[in-house]
Amino acid sequence: MSVELLGFNIDNYSFDEAVVRAKNMIDGHKVSQVVTINPEMIQYAENNADFANIIKEAEMVIPDGIGVKIALKLTGKNANRIPGIDFARRLLCEASKNDIPVAIIGAKEEVISKAVENLQKEISGLNIVYYHNGYFDNDEPIYNELKSKSPKLILVALGSPKQEEFIYKAKKILNPALMIGIGGSLDVWSGNLKRAPKIIQSLGLEWFYRTACQPSRFKRIFPALPLFLLKVINYKDKI
Ligand code: UDP
Repeated sequence: MSVELLGFNIDNYSFDEAVVRAKNMIDGHKVSQVVTINPEMIQYAENNADFANIIKEAEMVIPDGIGVKIALKLTGKNANRIPGIDFARRLLCEASKNDIPVAIIGAKEEVISKAVENLQKEISGLNIVYYHNGYFDNDEPIYNELKSKSPKLILVALGSPKQEEFIYKAKKILNPALMIGIGGSLDVWSGNLKRAPKIIQSLGLEWFYRTACQPSRFKRIFPALPLFLLKVINYKDKI
C-alpha cells in the first residue's frame, strides 16, 4: 500500500507492518534501502534528479515527520507517521532477538562510541560488528569493512542527502542487508540530544521542540515548510 505525494510513492504501513516488511528485507537477497522521508528531502529532490531517483528506487519510503502527514492530508490522503528513530530502535531490538549482526555509521567519534556503548547496555544481546564515525573523506575503506563483516542491518547517520547517497552507492557494492538513514538518532542515543517529552511527540510537535532547543534549525525549516505545503496545494489543484 502506498500513497503519492508530489510524484513520490510513500508507503502506508502501521509501525508493526513496517517492522515485518523490514525483517523480510533483512532476510532478502539484496541490499534494501529504507528512506525516512520529510518535506526538506522532497524539496531537495525536486531540484536534484539523482536524489529523486534514490527515493524512487528505495525499497521502502516511510513518512518520518508531521510535515509529510499534513501534506498528505491536504491532498485528501493519509499515511501513518513512523518516526525513523523509533523504527530504527525497534529494528535493533529485533536484530538482538534474532542474532542479526548490525553496523552503524555516522556522527562524531565521541557521539557514536557513546551511542554504541549505551545501545549495547540497553539492548541485551545486540551484536554490533562494526561502527565508524561519519566524518570521512574516502568511503572505500568503510565499504570494504562492511563487505568483510557482512552486517545484515546497517544504520547510517550522516544527515540527508549524504546518508541516502551513501546507502544507494552501497546497493551495488555490499552483501545483502537492510540499510536505513537515521539522521540525528545517534545524537539522541548518545545522550547528547534530548527528545521532546512524549506528549509533544504524540501531538506531532517534536519539530517545534527541536527548533526551540536548536534555533539554527529554524533556517532549515522556515520558509521551506510553508512553501512546501503551498506547493502541495497547488499540485493538487492542477490534477
Ligand atoms: N553527520 C555526519 N557526517 C557528516 C554530516 C553529518 O556524521 O558529514 C551527522 C551529524 O553528526 C549528526 C547526523 O549526521 O549526528 C544528522 O545530522 P542532522 O541533525 O543534520 O540530521 P537530521 O536529523 O536533521 O536529518
